[in-house]
Amino acid sequence: QLENVGFIGLGNMGSHMARNLITAGYKVTVYDTNENSMKKFSDDGIPTKQSPLEVSESSDVVITMLPSSSHVLEVYNGTNGLLGAGSRLGPWLYIDSSTVDPQTSRKISAAISRCHLKENKGYAENPMILDAPVSGGVPAAEAGKLTFMVGGLEEAYLAAKPLLLSMGKRAIYCGGAGNGSAAKICNNMAMAISMLGVSEAFALGQNLGIKASTLTDIFNCSSARCWSSDTYNPVPGVMEGVPSSRNYDGGFTSKLMAKDLDLAMASASGVGFKCPLGSEALEIYRKLCKDGCELKDFSCAFRHYYAGKDE
Ligand code: NAD
Repeated sequence: QLENVGFIGLGNMGSHMARNLITAGYKVTVYDTNENSMKKFSDDGIPTKQSPLEVSESSDVVITMLPSSSHVLEVYNGTNGLLGAGSRLGPWLYIDSSTVDPQTSRKISAAISRCHLKENKGYAENPMILDAPVSGGVPAAEAGKLTFMVGGLEEAYLAAKPLLLSMGKRAIYCGGAGNGSAAKICNNMAMAISMLGVSEAFALGQNLGIKASTLTDIFNCSSARCWSSDTYNPVPGVMEGVPSSRNYDGGFTSKLMAKDLDLAMASASGVGFKCPLGSEALEIYRKLCKDGCELKDFSCAFRHYYAGKDE
């Protein structure tokens, strides 16, 4: 049923996700505006196409993994975009795994629901779409251990589950269209705020004369324990194998965190909701980016608090 997969967006995440689908036995066709990214696939005999529309013509399902909302809207609605065939579409399922705001996911879902399938091979009359952003980063994409947060019709989620689990370890159904995107930006807003909270507390602790390693031991068996203290500690030298132990290189960049916080704040204002901590976190990440840390891991906020200045 979902044998032919079109994959659009072969960047840091998408290239690994597409490879994992190929390993799992799906017939994958790819497209990216970057010719070099496509060449890595064509050199291995993977079919490449010249536009999203061409991808859609040979696919049962199309997955997009693009930088931001504007790229996703362009790929769906632009010239030679996925919806360029008009109201009758080839693929019966679309999955957008890019991190975008829920309003964008809902806009695309509404456009898809107004379309009809070119051929009804026994599926529902209308094509379906899932917003299925991921958590886990590049290492999890490579290892096929992503977590998918999925919004859309439940029947589409159930049909897509085996495909998603070829790229990830978990897929969690979040409800209707846009709810996967909502879950993702809420997760990342909480992650940013907790990272900043832990960083500020470690910096205060050091200023008060407590070693970061001692404070970490205390946090991790006390009520301040969280992912930022026990798995992704921001203080250099406290944990091995995390970005803080390698000058904040690798990991999840401050630039991507600023982008996700921006989405969260725009979505919040779209529904008239105020997020004072999210808004403060966005200001801090914008400043970190302006100060030259945009490609450093987002845990470099600790240095911002500790040293009082960035690199
Ligand atoms: P990336 O910039 O490495 O890759 C995006 C790819 O999309 C690029 O290859 C680019 O050439 C291609 N592209 C851009 N516009 C296009 C278009 N119009 N048509 C076809 N291809 C186009 O980004 P990434 O790190 O792979 O992230 C992709 C998405 O996943 C983002 O929304 C990001 O927020 C999210 N995400 C990233 C991470 C991470 O750690 N990198 C983790 C979780 C989620």
